[in-house]
Parts: sequence; structure tokens; C-alpha cells
Amino acid sequence: MMKTIIEPFRIKTVEPIRFTTEEERENILKEAGYNPFLFHADDVLIDLLTDSGTAAMSAKQWSGIMDGDESYAGARSFYRFENAVRDITGYTFIIPTHQGRAAEKILFTILGKEGKSIPNNTHFDTTRANIEYSGAEAVDLVIEEGKDPNSLHPFKGNMDINKLEKFIQETGAENIPIGMMTVTNNAGGGQPVSMENLREVRDVFHKYNIPFFLDACRFAENAYFIKLREKGYGDKSVKEIAQEMFSLADGCTMSAKKDALVNMGGFIAMNDEKLAQLSRNILIVTEGFPTYGGLAGRDLEAIAQGLEEVVDEHYLRYRLRSVEYLGEKLIDAGVPILQPPGGHAIYINAKEFTPHIPPEHFPGQALVCELFRFGGIRAVEIGSVMFGKHDKKTGAFIPASMELVRLAIPRRVYTQSHIDYVVEVIIEIFKRREALCGYKITYEAPMLRHFTALFEPIT
Ligand SMILES: *Cc1c(COP(=O)(O)O)cnc(C)c1O
Repeated sequence: MMKTIIEPFRIKTVEPIRFTTEEERENILKEAGYNPFLFHADDVLIDLLTDSGTAAMSAKQWSGIMDGDESYAGARSFYRFENAVRDITGYTFIIPTHQGRAAEKILFTILGKEGKSIPNNTHFDTTRANIEYSGAEAVDLVIEEGKDPNSLHPFKGNMDINKLEKFIQETGAENIPIGMMTVTNNAGGGQPVSMENLREVRDVFHKYNIPFFLDACRFAENAYFIKLREKGYGDKSVKEIAQEMFSLADGCTMSAKKDALVNMGGFIAMNDEKLAQLSRNILIVTEGFPTYGGLAGRDLEAIAQGLEEVVDEHYLRYRLRSVEYLGEKLIDAGVPILQPPGGHAIYINAKEFTPHIPPEHFPGQALVCELFRFGGIRAVEIGSVMFGKHDKKTGAFIPASMELVRLAIPRRVYTQSHIDYVVEVIIEIFKRREALCGYKITYEAPMLRHFTALFEPIT
């Protein structure tokens, strides 16, 4: 077989990207208070801010957009969507929502309240926020290797079974209305979960009669990792593996903005009829009628088509390889990254990249700013800007556990030469990393400060 893994598509529609000079980018940075969330996207050359809702749709998805049935109730597009979701998940009740967090909001409005706890490998931030908003507690039980940036464990998204048993016994099963697993583990670096671990986790939850749901945003990427890495799955199709993953759980929440290859959408699906009824009651108040749930008929068509395309193994081979390719080139150049590469992003370890910048001066933000200033690349800090705190009594700075810069790769958007360019920019910055300076915050909001904070360089 040929060594080069090529993009399994040709390009029919293109969108120009805008080149700017370093001088222009310095002004853009200054005007945005050195916060890339405040840029105009038109000023960005290569946008690696997120893989959420940024996929390129296929010609068939776009033709589905024209073909969408916009009937208020019982639209043809809903039934196509329902069939596509059921084909992969096997679940009986399928409820569309406008995105993943809307599915979470419905689920935890029903199941969460003060005194309840909900375990997961690692809760994604919207999941955590929805659980905490309901009054319940969100608990992370990922294996220890999942927290070590240099561990090469093949399934760093796995849950620690012993911790889970202990947690259930201490908390009491009656206080745990649901258990979850996020595939792949986004907040833990896009790391996969093994089928064996899913099975063990299912067994523990079911032993205590706790329903088990997947946060399935990247189910196809996770299934392909299982095919590549887990014994006994090499000859199974990704679709079969995905079906087996879903069969172990009682339901799922999903952001279609990830592995359904669309720009907007989501769903919640389950086998429990009573839970489905309660979910639809909330859906009608907050999202819409159960056959559209906050989406247009055309969106449902695009999701149905995307779910067929995402389990295509030529696509997944290219997808995981293109992320790994970026990771490999950086490792070869000595750039410290979180290992092994995850399914949707590469995370640069900024603590090691710029050891001369202390966490309170935000090494990740320093690198994010330089990526844009020097190369026009937008990335996101996942470190002390996002998770750092001050002690309520002493005011002392408490850093995040890791200082990371995430390069999230949008699906089917950039080619290998775009990625080669990104590699070149990072290596150039790495060579003169001592020249990077830290930043201080000049404005911050009381919650989720990273979205709107303003900074100044410390020179
Ligand atoms: C994106 C994401 C969500 C939330 O989905 P939205 O569509 O952004 O609301 C939930 N869980 C995980 C793991 C995600 O990656």
C-alpha cells in the first residue's frame, strides 16, 4: 500500500483566506486586547480555535440542504434523521436539539438536582455547567495516565473502575441519577476510551441500577481508535464498532457539530420511554416540536448525511492521520506536546515550551499571541487563563494543572500544506522561544473569563 495518506475528497468550492502583514497583526492583537476570541475571523489566516461547527460539508450534504422538508410537524427530513441516528446508535427514542448543550440541559433538568452526583471520565465544560446549574455535582474519574501529558497509554480517556466503585459506594447509588462517558475525552486531550473499559463501566453502573449515557460527540473518531488499537477490533468496520459502543449504553447526548460533520445541531437519544417523554415535554418548551427540536428540516438532512459520511474509513484514516501528522512533526522538532496525539487536536505543553514564563504570566496566552502575530494562526489557551483562580482569602494565585495551547483541526477544511505551514510557524517560534514575554490581565468577567478577558504584554 502507498505510504502517503491523501485527503479522501477533491475540492469543489473554495473560500479565500486573508493574508495580513506582521504589522497589521500586531495592531489586530492590540485592538483585541491580546484575546483571540475577540478577533474578527476574517483577520485569521488559519483558524484552529475549535473543531466545533467548523467542518466543511460535502456536496451531498449541501444538496440535502436544498432538499430539506420544512414542514412544522412530521417532516420527511426528520424521519431521515431519525433513521440515520437509529442505524448507528440503535436507540428507540431520538430527539433533535439545536446543539449538544441543549441535549445536556434537557437531561440534567430531569435528572440533576441538589444532592445528586454525576460521574464521567472527564466532563466537558458545557456538561459540567449544565450539571452544576441543576444543583448537582459533576465528578471526573479518568485514569491517572489520562492526567499525565507524557503517558503513552493507548486509551487515556478510560475511567478508573476502582475509583468508580468506591465513588458509588461512598455516595450511594440513590444519589447518582446517571453515569456518563465522554468519547473521545475532549477535556482530557481528545483521548479515546476502549471498548473493554466501556463494558466494565457499563457493568458497574448497571450493577447499581444507574443508567449509563455516552457523551457521543466524537464517537466515530473513538471507534476508529478502537479499530487501530484494541485487540479483536482490527477486522470490524467502524460502523460495527460504533454500534457496539452505543449498545453498551442506555442513551447518549450528541453535538452534531463534531462527528456529524455539520455546522449546527445535536440530539439526545435513549431507550427509556418515560425519560423520552419527560425530555420531549421540556423540548417543546425550550427547543421546539419533537420532529424538529430547534433545527430546520435542512439541518436534519445534513446531519443524516453527515452521520453516513463520518463512519467512512477513508475519511477517518485521513482524519486521525492528519492530526497525528501535525503531532509527529512537532515531536520531531522537539516541541513539547501532550502525547499521544488525540483525535481532533494537538495540545502544545506551554509550561515546557516557555519555562521562563511563570503560570501567573500565562505561558499559553504568550504562545497563542505569538502564533497569531508571527503566523496568522488562531489557537486557544487551555491553562491558567481558562482555569486559573485566586485564593478567596489570601488572594494568592492558583494555577491550572496544565498550561496548554490547543490546535483544534476543523474537519475536511485544511490540506496538508496548510498543516505544513502551521508546523513551520511553530518551529520558528520554538527556536526563539526565550524572546516570548508573559501577559497580565487588565479586565476579566466574573465567570468564564477567557472569552472576554483583556491582556497586556509584560515587557
Ligand atoms: C462540544 C461538546 C459538547 C457541547 O456541544 P455544543 O454543540 O457545543 O453545545 C458537549 N460535550 C463534548 C465532549 C463536546 O465536545
